[in-house]
Amino acid sequence: MEEMIVFGHKSPDTDTICSAIVMSDLQGKLGKKVKAVRLGELNKETEYALKYLNVEKPEIISEVENGQEVILVDHNEFSQSANNIENAKIKMVVDHHRICDFQTAEPLYYRAEPVGCTCTVLYKLYKENNVEVSEKMAGLMLSAIISDTLLLKSPTKTDEDEKAVKELAQIANLDYQTYGLEMLKAGTDLSDFSAKELIGLDCKECALSDKKAKIAQVNTADINDMMTRKAEIEETMKKDIEENGLDLFVFVITDIINSNSQAIVHGKETAIFEKGFNKKLEDNTAFLPGVVSRKKQILPVLQENA
Ligand code: MN
Ligand code: MN
Repeated sequence: MEEMIVFGHKSPDTDTICSAIVMSDLQGKLGKKVKAVRLGELNKETEYALKYLNVEKPEIISEVENGQEVILVDHNEFSQSANNIENAKIKMVVDHHRICDFQTAEPLYYRAEPVGCTCTVLYKLYKENNVEVSEKMAGLMLSAIISDTLLLKSPTKTDEDEKAVKELAQIANLDYQTYGLEMLKAGTDLSDFSAKELIGLDCKECALSDKKAKIAQVNTADINDMMTRKAEIEETMKKDIEENGLDLFVFVITDIINSNSQAIVHGKETAIFEKGFNKKLEDNTAFLPGVVSRKKQILPVLQENA
């Protein structure tokens, strides 16, 4: 049997990549051979973190083979996982998302906690297993928590995330405020991406009762700057809706400095969005003050109104 592999979701973000690397380190120290892999290209924020910490990016795979033993981190929904995941053997899951459309044929280790980041859970696993955290692994977990909680400003942040950030920053020898802001900013340089790349950077497909939706999100330091590309972004969203039979596509531009978002919304079910946020779309767009979290402030709202 070939070695076990660990990976996060498609359109990988910093938590997904760092969690895969960290989980393979932890499992290695516990005597299991597990290789970290990824399902897509790195975003600029993750690239910045890996380069800063001098860590190699995981190998890319496009699908898993039948019977392959896998560990999932930072996701569980099959629609966000590797192609052919239905035919893999899922041995473990470590996650911080809702559990949806998930089933296995055999028993497994499943650890989910309602915290801000998978790496917060992984950090606890090091402690529970009495495994020492290296400077590099601390840097990776720190990066992931900063990314998922927008430097502890997102409503998804819990006390446990904050505590982990402070402890990990010490082990990693990093001033997390300075490092964190630089890392987040590195992710907002989106000028050389095509509209198609933009909507795919951090895109999640999700079921809203019987409807098929996609919610994509990009971070920016200036919403207006991104809105200058509205027309081409909309063009690409419409094409995606047609090609993938989507009922709703929400593209969220999040201002990481002021913690607000602007949404561009298309599809035949835009009423779900309007009802959920009690807002009339103007020119297919709406400003969402104080909204930064897809998981906590957007997905549940759409879910309840679908
Ligand atoms: Mn993620
Ligand atoms: Mn995450």
